Amino acid sequence: MDLKSLVRTIPDYPKPGIMFRDVTTLMADAQGFKAAVARLAEPYRTEPVDLVAGIEARGFILAGAIADRLGCGFVPVRKKGKLPWKTISQEYALEYGTDTVEMHEDALARGKRVLLVDDLIATGGTAGAAVKLIRRLGGHILGAAFIIDLPELGGAELLKKDGIDVHALMAFEGH
Ligand code: AMP
Repeated sequence: MDLKSLVRTIPDYPKPGIMFRDVTTLMADAQGFKAAVARLAEPYRTEPVDLVAGIEARGFILAGAIADRLGCGFVPVRKKGKLPWKTISQEYALEYGTDTVEMHEDALARGKRVLLVDDLIATGGTAGAAVKLIRRLGGHILGAAFIIDLPELGGAELLKKDGIDVHALMAFEGH
C-alpha cells in the first residue's frame, strides 16, 4: 500500500516556503491509517515496550493506536500549560524564538521503556525536547517513530547521533 500518496501537501502553509505535509488525509483513509499504525508498531512488536509517548497533537492519534496494538500504556507530551497535574518542562529552539513541551512529573517511573511517536520529524527540536523530558524522568527510550521524515532538516540524524533508534515510514524532500 502506497502511504505516501495519501499524504496531502499544502504549499506555503503556515508560511511562505513551507510545504506542509498533512497526514489528516492518510488518517481519514481506513486502510491507510491501519497500515500506518501497523508499520509504526512493527519494529517494536517483540520488544518489551512499557509506554508510548505521543507528541501533541497529531502524535496523540498515532501513539494511542500504537499503544493499543502493542498492549502498553500511553503518555502525553504537551505544549506548555495544558497538563492538569505537576509537570516538568523542556524548552527548545524554533527558527524564531523558543517553545516548551511538558510531561506530568509522574508520567513514567524510572526504568520504564518508552517508544516516542509523532507524525513528522523536521529539525528534531520537538522530538529532542521530548527525549530530554523522558530521560529526566528516568525513562529508557527504545526508539522514535514517525510517519514522515524531512531528512534535509536533519532531525532524524540528530536523534540517531544521540543513540536513538529512529523509524520513519517515508521521507519528503525540502522543508
Ligand atoms: P521539528 O521540531 O522541527 O522536528 O518539527 C516537528 C513538528 O512540527 C511536528 O510536530 C510536526 O507536526 C510539525 N511540522 C514541522 N514541519 C512540518 C511540515 N513541513 N509539515 C507538517 N508538519 C510539520
